[in-house]
Amino acid sequence: MKYDVIVVGAGIAGMTAAIYVKRAGKSVLVLESVIHGGQIINTIGIENWPGDYGVSGADLAGKIYEQLGKLGIEVEYSEVETIEKTSEGFTVKTDDDEYSCGAVILAVGTEPRRLSEKQAADAGKRAVSYCATCDGALYKGKPVVVVGSGNTAKHEMKYLENIASKVYHIHHDEPIPKDAEAVFVAIGRTPNTKFVKDLVDLNSEGYIVAEEDCITSCSGVFVAGDCRTKQVRQLVTAAGDGSVAAEAAIDYLAKK
Ligand SMILES: Cc1cc2nc3c(=O)[nH]c(=O)nc-3n(C[C@H](O)[C@H](O)[C@H](O)COP(=O)(O)OP(=O)(O)OC[C@H]3O[C@@H](n4cnc5c(N)ncnc54)[C@H](O)[C@@H]3O)c2cc1C
Repeated sequence: MKYDVIVVGAGIAGMTAAIYVKRAGKSVLVLESVIHGGQIINTIGIENWPGDYGVSGADLAGKIYEQLGKLGIEVEYSEVETIEKTSEGFTVKTDDDEYSCGAVILAVGTEPRRLSEKQAADAGKRAVSYCATCDGALYKGKPVVVVGSGNTAKHEMKYLENIASKVYHIHHDEPIPKDAEAVFVAIGRTPNTKFVKDLVDLNSEGYIVAEEDCITSCSGVFVAGDCRTKQVRQLVTAAGDGSVAAEAAIDYLAKK
């Protein structure tokens, strides 16, 4: 099936991009490997998304997804494995299908950094979680440990202090306490860009190189949201990128 634009990722950036593409009269497909909403999905009480104070990530994602449905935007749930440039445009391959399109918007976001090999070995068979809000309740009255030193680690500790019998705090290179029953990891995030490393330029940390115009090094490929080189990674900047990348893709198709 041929589309004008394929958007990879249904986080806030990808869903916003799809809305702008569709409203410009172009055909668009969104491919999402996990769940629409992306990394904000487990957050409760967002206070800086304009117009909906205290909304949860799940509700926000649900509202935007509903908007996609009203506009007739197709969303398929599969992971994009490769994107190839062809004479016509692009071939986008997922684990079970293949699609073609004139332009691609990469809105693949970031995922939590994993434990080091040493700490993973140290954790052994103990539970390892990347989300205290999701899994904290499973360790009520039990000792747990939070790994990490940034704001997310502090947030996870504060949350777990109301649930666990003890919350240890260690840095990314320290041994895991013997009696901790679960390990909560908060050591930063890394972009989901390995599968496009031969298609577009990445910086040394794996972010897709692009300025505010969201144009990548590969003609016809645009980028939106947290996976782009930028200063501020937030919901509003992800949505802003979505609109800019969509307009750039529409402009590219018009000139082609
Ligand atoms: C715990 C937490 C709390 C936060 N709180 C706030 C807050 O209060 N306010 C705020 O403004 N921001 C907050 N943020 C930041 C905000 O969530 C992000 O800036 C924003 O969600 C980024 O959106 P995105 O669409 O760029 O990426 P993501 O949300 O990461 O979405 C990317 C999507 O792409 C999909 N994907 C990845 N690779 C592929 C592939 N190969 N094929 C198909 N799909 C793929 C992923 O599954 C994901 O759904 C928070 C982040 C976290 C982790």
